[in-house]
Amino acid sequence: MQIWEDIEKIQPVATRTLVNSIKKNRISHAYLFQGDRGTGKQEMALLLAKYLFCQNQQGANPCNNCINCQRIDSGNHPDMHWIEPDGASIKIEQVRNLQKEFTYSGMESSRKVYIIKDADTLTVNAANRLLKFLEEPNVETTAMMLTENGHAILSTIRSRCQIIDLQPLPPGVLQERLQQEDMSETDAKLLSTLTNSMTEALELAQDDWFAGARKIVIQWVEMYTTQPEDIYTFVHQNWIPHFKDREGQERGLDLLILGFKDILNQHIYTDANTILLSNDPSKSEKRLITFSQSQLLTILHQILMAKRKLKANVQPTLVIEQLALQIQR
Ligand SMILES: [Zn+2]
Repeated sequence: MQIWEDIEKIQPVATRTLVNSIKKNRISHAYLFQGDRGTGKQEMALLLAKYLFCQNQQGANPCNNCINCQRIDSGNHPDMHWIEPDGASIKIEQVRNLQKEFTYSGMESSRKVYIIKDADTLTVNAANRLLKFLEEPNVETTAMMLTENGHAILSTIRSRCQIIDLQPLPPGVLQERLQQEDMSETDAKLLSTLTNSMTEALELAQDDWFAGARKIVIQWVEMYTTQPEDIYTFVHQNWIPHFKDREGQERGLDLLILGFKDILNQHIYTDANTILLSNDPSKSEKRLITFSQSQLLTILHQILMAKRKLKANVQPTLVIEQLALQIQR
């Protein structure tokens, strides 16, 4: 059960925009909520819909208690319609059926709300059909379109909607949401540090290449405490064949940064939890003995320099060989 104050914590700007238009009684006929997966598009659309139907509005919030609020929560309010892709796209029949519904006035009031999920998947025909609908706004009708891919929406449709831009999630919130999607705490913590996109985080979690990359980087860092003399060979045999393109190489260096930051954090805060490396106390202890704080700062700087060289198109094998040697010193 949510109110605007809850959503404001993750989407302050968008929430203020909507709450303001509610307070000024200037609710638009059509909204386009655009933002990455997990950023709160659906929550916001639902909350606005509930507010519109609520029999007992509390300021800009719905009461979350009356029969209408309850029916929206359980997904069976007769004047509220959902459209989502049928297979890969939203087809013209779906828009046609929606319009048929709308030729009857609201079952219980004259108000109607429709929410279109993944609106970027509207076929061109469906979008054009919808456009006619948006061109003849009815006072009592509110359209809400949701998309992760705002630039894929036809400009003719965009121009008829008020656009609500949702921001990427802060790392703590993203981690929480990833865990709600059944991701382990370890994975969620690491991925929310590497990206602020829920979609990308979920993809990486399923990606074999990424799992391999993570293993190689952890092994590389841990080898300094066990067999530093073999690192140069290890990098040649493992890193170079695995990190083939530049995007991958940069991702690898980002992971390496996280590994060395883990050690630095454990130097500074005795109770620090690691993000990439193992939390096993005996391993942590060995790492702290192997690397001093000032060495770690130098290493982090060297990795950043290596990233810069990659960007400047220096040969990647050369960059990584140099880095391996620099860290060893
Ligand atoms: Zn209510």
